Amino acid sequence: MRTLLEPRLMDPSSNEPGLVVDVRDERRALLFDLGELGMLPPRVLLRVSHAFVTHTHMDHFAGFDHLLAVGLGRMPRLVLWGGPDFVAQVEHKLRAYTWNVVHRYETPLAIEACEIRPDGRRRRARFDSASAFARTELPPADMADGDVLHEETTFRVRARFVDHEMPVLAYAIEEKARVRVAPERLAAMGVTTGAWLRELKHAVLAGAPDETPIELRWRDRDGEHATVRSVAELRPLVLDVVPGRRIGYVTDLRGSEDNVEQLSRLLDGVDLLYIESVFLDKDRAHALRKNHLTARQAGEIARRLRARALVPFHFSPRYQGRTGELVAEARAAWGGAAQAGEAEAPASPA
Ligand SMILES: [Zn+2]
Ligand SMILES: [Zn+2]
Repeated sequence: MRTLLEPRLMDPSSNEPGLVVDVRDERRALLFDLGELGMLPPRVLLRVSHAFVTHTHMDHFAGFDHLLAVGLGRMPRLVLWGGPDFVAQVEHKLRAYTWNVVHRYETPLAIEACEIRPDGRRRRARFDSASAFARTELPPADMADGDVLHEETTFRVRARFVDHEMPVLAYAIEEKARVRVAPERLAAMGVTTGAWLRELKHAVLAGAPDETPIELRWRDRDGEHATVRSVAELRPLVLDVVPGRRIGYVTDLRGSEDNVEQLSRLLDGVDLLYIESVFLDKDRAHALRKNHLTARQAGEIARRLRARALVPFHFSPRYQGRTGELVAEARAAWGGAAQAGEAEAPASPA
């Protein structure tokens, strides 16, 4: 079935960290980590509305400059999330350049940097290109739930800290619910798909009153059409509302019980888990020194989280040409969706 959020690793070889999540129907994308962004075409980067950074080791944050260079003068707004001191680190990045002409750009850019600390305190600031990225302090957005960083009608992003000899954010990306529409009923009603369909889905998910107007615009061989219908009139188009998919993005952590405990609170029963598998288990002592997981530890975590699909990534360069061993080791320890404790058919791994 068609999903709202479509994730993929930034690096097709799975070595570099980073996840792109397309928000379908909205021509918009979310990024998880800002590492080697040069692998993504500018048209993808220009769609980015939010970027969530796990921690600011270079392989996870050096791509900020690239995103900024692509977005300057073209991107109106960018929201960034990170851990302790992240707002200051974004500011330091911006201060490293000279901005004497940027205020003349046709599309001004507002960068909003948000941070969360292990004690739950939050901080937020805005940097506007119109004022040479001067810092404006903003009050942190109020969230009902302590681990929710970002929330929209159709999805939310939650995070918890894991230990990597420094605090690192592990992320859960959760579709709230999905509205399925019956295509044949569109034709029967004499309308075709368009941006209004997204508006209808949002109205249904948000529980909008029946009389809420939806403006329909569409184009066919007879030209442009526009009409207004109420949510009640359009509701028969909706086939059903089904639970959304949950995606985990977990990278840069040591193999410890405390970390598993944090991840269980965030990702128990996750549908699709992206998890670092940096070293082979025979190199476990080295993995411990580097504060990373072995592939076997990653698979064991996936099993304990009852993950329904597993994607190992962030392979150490020392295994160049044999990353298949890392994938096999992680999958063997996971045991597959058959052991995920679900009676229904398992999701196929992406
Ligand atoms: Zn890393
Ligand atoms: Zn790291």
